[in-house]
Amino acid sequence: MGKLIIFSAPSGAGKTTIVRHLLSLFPQLSFSISATTRLPRVGELDTKDYYFITKDDFLKRVSLGEFVEFEEVYEDVFYGTLKQEIERIWALGKCILFDIDVVGGINLKNLFGDGALSVFVKPPSVEVLKTRLGARNTDSEAQLLERLAKAERELEYAKFFDVVLLNDNLSQSLSEAEQIVENFIADL
Ligand code: ADP
Ligand code: 5GP
Repeated sequence: MGKLIIFSAPSGAGKTTIVRHLLSLFPQLSFSISATTRLPRVGELDTKDYYFITKDDFLKRVSLGEFVEFEEVYEDVFYGTLKQEIERIWALGKCILFDIDVVGGINLKNLFGDGALSVFVKPPSVEVLKTRLGARNTDSEAQLLERLAKAERELEYAKFFDVVLLNDNLSQSLSEAEQIVENFIADL
């Protein structure tokens, strides 16, 4: 078994920004590409950002036991980590980096124990989340409200993570994230 680093947070807290930064810095890391039934956003690529698949295909793979974890993250929108994705990255001798929702992050930590480091990215406040999601401009008004309602519940789960990383000042959070990763992968 190899190592895993899990970044979880309410939508808009900044985990994608942090994860992209870490990937550009550490060649020992490889991004876990999840499967999802949502449509690609502008600029997102199939097999790079996600495996974009249909709901039928997703549910078939669930019934075949192909996922290590999966969730209906939003109503009728599924996301999951395929077992073969984990095997693919460990076969390269790399540490897997996850950008995954809060419940998925807790599930993976419970599955992999000490092999996994779980990091909760905490926004300064729900108000700030709202501003960041609005500025990202990728969601409809209804999606935005759904994401914010979920975020309020998710903030309660920070205590179940190994590390809580406050993402207020971005350059400071990026260097803290670098330090966290460096310590965990020191012997890779
Ligand atoms: P997530 O992946 O958690 O949904 P993103 O990384 O997409 O969040 O960040 C949401 C938005 O907030 C993006 O537009 C991003 O550029 C911006 N952002 C991220 N971190 C900060 C920060 N510390 N200060 C200000 N804006 C930020
Ligand atoms: P987005 O639609 O913004 O890309 O992602 C929505 C949420 O789904 C984010 O919190 C993201 O981290 C989460 N997510 C992405 N992939 C997975 C996955 O494989 N499993 C779970 N449980 N959540 C995921």
